[in-house]
Amino acid sequence: MSLLKLDNVTIRFGGLVAVDSVNLTVEQGEILALIGPNGAGKSTLFNLITGIYTPTAGSIAFKGETISGRKTYRIAAAGIGRTFQNIRLFPELSVLENVLIGAHTRGKWDLTGSILKLAPWVRREEGELAEWAIECLKQVDLAHRAYEPSTSLPYGEQRRLEIARALAIKPDLILLDEPAAGMNPQEKQVLLEMVRKIRATGITVFLVEHDMKFVMGLSDRIAVLDYGVKIAEGKPEEIRANPQVIEAYLGK
Ligand code: ADP
Ligand code: MG
Repeated sequence: MSLLKLDNVTIRFGGLVAVDSVNLTVEQGEILALIGPNGAGKSTLFNLITGIYTPTAGSIAFKGETISGRKTYRIAAAGIGRTFQNIRLFPELSVLENVLIGAHTRGKWDLTGSILKLAPWVRREEGELAEWAIECLKQVDLAHRAYEPSTSLPYGEQRRLEIARALAIKPDLILLDEPAAGMNPQEKQVLLEMVRKIRATGITVFLVEHDMKFVMGLSDRIAVLDYGVKIAEGKPEEIRANPQVIEAYLGK
């Protein structure tokens, strides 16, 4: 059984078919990349998987259970973590607190969907949660920054902080939307090693990325989206040599 399975997933925004009958699976333990031109529907696909959007047609299953139509927090609780193309940190909170926000999204406390109701319970568990948040920060080499304001971090570290927050929910699958965007080559190399280590802990990785060196060096498999349609899927060397992909994307 595939970890994630998209069956004919479609979403329309008025006249625009942003994601068009996409069939795609993510297999347990792999690093899968999604590439394609700007506006191809990559972020929209992540928003469909995480429940921000509900498909107009088709369905999405995670660990064999249909998740399309569920609330975002329930999908996170089922084990799908994510980062956003545009960093979404809470600027008034510390690095550690930003990760704690993630940690609150999974576990027994989120089943009601209300953090407020369970605030006393959360307080009891605070030490344990904070320890876990520090563990997540260690995975992206930010534990030494835990008590600094999140906005004091340089851009590349803010992107890594988003990954730590996604890890805090103990995901089985993590979706990274352009994790290397805005990073210099050294930062990208550090990130690439971090993503490999995350996968080595048993977390399946599905990422959107424009940097082809990064994608080719990291991914087991690549899927290509163009105008909402999946035009190719295969190993990095197959994708690199695919004429349709070169025409739609790589040639540009
Ligand atoms: P990508 O991430 O591949 O660059 P997106 O998924 O962000 O592309 O966008 C795909 C297309 O869907 C674009 O044309 C975008 O303008 C459109 N789109 C995305 N979200 C919405 C929305 N909420 N309402 C209307 N159009 C949208
Ligand atoms: Mg995008």
